[in-house]
Amino acid sequence: MTTRKSLGRYRRVVIKIGSALLVDRKTGLKKAWLDAMCRDIAALKAKGVDVLVVSSGAIALGRSVLDLPSGALKLEESQASAAVGQIALARAWSESLSRDEIVAGQILLTLGDTEERRRYLNARATINQLLKIGAVPIINENDTVATSEIRYGDNDRLAARVATMAGADLLILLSDIDGLYTAPPHLDPQAEFLATIAEITPEIEAMAGGAASELSRGGMRTKIDAGKIATTAGCAMIIASGKAGSPLSAIENGARSSWFAPSRTPVTARKTWIAGQLQPAGELHVDEGAAAALGAGKSLLPAGVRKVIGLFSRGDTVAIVGPQGREIARGLAGYDAEEARQITGRKSTEIEAILGYAGRAAMIHRDDMVMTSQIGSKSERQKKDTSYA
Ligand code: GLU
Repeated sequence: MTTRKSLGRYRRVVIKIGSALLVDRKTGLKKAWLDAMCRDIAALKAKGVDVLVVSSGAIALGRSVLDLPSGALKLEESQASAAVGQIALARAWSESLSRDEIVAGQILLTLGDTEERRRYLNARATINQLLKIGAVPIINENDTVATSEIRYGDNDRLAARVATMAGADLLILLSDIDGLYTAPPHLDPQAEFLATIAEITPEIEAMAGGAASELSRGGMRTKIDAGKIATTAGCAMIIASGKAGSPLSAIENGARSSWFAPSRTPVTARKTWIAGQLQPAGELHVDEGAAAALGAGKSLLPAGVRKVIGLFSRGDTVAIVGPQGREIARGLAGYDAEEARQITGRKSTEIEAILGYAGRAAMIHRDDMVMTSQIGSKSERQKKDTSYA
């Protein structure tokens, strides 16, 4: 288990901000709070950390603009509130971040965007591109089209999915709760605060209870669910209160917060997932040279592919079969089966002329691939691929 470290020492951090921190039911957006938050983000970015924000508050802000009465909203009311609130929310983030010359990019996700491989890859590519150019993705669920059956509903779990999608090493859940207690502290005076959670055991889950405030959807339950998603994928998680303002500075200065240890490194967890959880939808048969290149940690290029079997879409898991007819690796296809057939054996520079668009150079990128069988000596394999350790 890695130990808790200063925020500036993480590589990529997802910060989830609860509605109650950003929106006051009567006065609307809490501008001063947001400005202080953005200064904290700028300071973290200045240390070289990639920052992504999952911002709640669209529905709360929209209902305050529309002056809807308090109490539960009907689905169509929350969709309309989100439509009104999201535009204001995104603008507020963009304006506030621009004071530190940081560019914001809005991403609205639905459940399908994170669950379906193809859409997942598209969303991930956009997020990575935004981070590459130094922008801060401001992410929310696309509540205007989400219906109750096909939605996250809470941004805690959405933020955890975003963290795994972006390969983040830290997820910070900011709300009005400062961490995990052995029992709900407002109901049980004996409740003890837990500063470090090494593993999310059934006992930890039992402590979560249910309570959520009126403005937000998530309670401790969804935070623990988020913790399971994040830590399994090798991402640490912090639950902290943002109520006092400048929450990142507060965490750095030792304010009370709960830290959940990551269980593995992100790449290993992700590759384990690729290798273990999905049924391959097709096969790519490769030549000797390509097999050796994969063993050395390279991506699979179309030039090394000899045959494409099956019907798969970009983002589906496919098996990579070596010259001896054995599966040697698995990965997420960078092309649909039909396109893959067309570029089989061809140079990456020819892709555009063949397909009519500049696709990815690799048939399967090495980040999307895991070796499933030995190439070369055992010790060599262990050196190159620790995901099966
Ligand atoms: N997506 C919702 C909104 O922006 C918030 C969900 C939550 O509170 O977790 O209003």
